Amino acid sequence: MRRRIIAFTLLLGALLLGACQRPAPDVQEQQFIAFGTLVDVTLHGVDDTQAQQAFTMLERDLNQWHRDWHAWQPGLLTELNHALATNGEADVPATLRPLIEGTQRLSMQSGGLFNPAIGGLLALWGFQNDELPQQPPAASAIATWLKNPPRMTDLHLTGNRLATRHRGVQLDFGACAKGYAAQRAIERLHELGIANAIVAVAGDIHVAGTHGDRPWRVGIRHPREAGILGAVELQDGESISTSGDYQRYFTYQGKRFHHILDPRTGYPATGAISVTVIARDGLSADAAATALFVADAQDWPRVARAMGVDQVMRVDNDGVVTMTPALAKRVRIEGTPTVRIQALP
Ligand code: AMP
Ligand code: MG
Repeated sequence: MRRRIIAFTLLLGALLLGACQRPAPDVQEQQFIAFGTLVDVTLHGVDDTQAQQAFTMLERDLNQWHRDWHAWQPGLLTELNHALATNGEADVPATLRPLIEGTQRLSMQSGGLFNPAIGGLLALWGFQNDELPQQPPAASAIATWLKNPPRMTDLHLTGNRLATRHRGVQLDFGACAKGYAAQRAIERLHELGIANAIVAVAGDIHVAGTHGDRPWRVGIRHPREAGILGAVELQDGESISTSGDYQRYFTYQGKRFHHILDPRTGYPATGAISVTVIARDGLSADAAATALFVADAQDWPRVARAMGVDQVMRVDNDGVVTMTPALAKRVRIEGTPTVRIQALP
């Protein structure tokens, strides 16, 4: 039962069970809001003073990163986007550089399915807003955007200088910032000498060490029901990320329009309702979960291979769960969904 509680707590926040559960004395847990969501930090084997120091540091750091990487609230990224749109070039602040370099590589590997240059399209849809849109944009506006879609390959980084000839490039790191932040948070904990921790930024989680004498365990949220679809143990240094059509969406004329857009069509990706990836780094796990959500049912194994990930779970529109062999051997599925195994090419 305790396992299940931890899984739920990590994915759904304190809301469910925190109050009635007495935590183990060697475990310290804190939740706070950052990246517009609930962040859950759990530490193992540290004393109260060190834990409080760590929680304070992480709450400050994650909120700073959120401000610096934000795609629409004024900050370093909106300044960079403004400079690219008006001058076609900009100096890159140090905090954005790893995101730009890492996502250029991952975007290319994904064949542009993961494309953080599509901020303009996301804005057109109204997703670059704290409030969700009420209706889709005009088809003609999407068609216009599709005539000359910006890509990460339109950006050229030389030293600290970023340049583009495509004035439509608008960076939005919404698809990878949380996974990257979870990993960076663990790196910050290492700097404090903390070796056993788990940081969950909603569905993007990174772990260090163990939960005492057992590995850290997390649940994978069920995309349509309250509760989890499966549970998995994570090893030191692993990241897990889930993308879903349930995270940000609006309904218009009975149809769901969610926030993961297919850059080939300009519309929300169809085919999957949830994709989970485990990888060694948070940026790759998060970017790949988004890319494989966009990829076609027949093509995602090839894209996974190209992005260097081999642990994938994809839930299609009918609720069928497909897993790669590497993930299947470690996930414990809950309930009785139809499960298929898909080897990578
Ligand atoms: P995630 O939940 O990690 O899949 O990220 C979803 C977020 O990524 C959206 O809210 C957008 O900010 C952004 N996004 C949507 N579609 C794409 C795409 N095809 N490539 C890159 N970023 C995207
Ligand atoms: Mg993602």
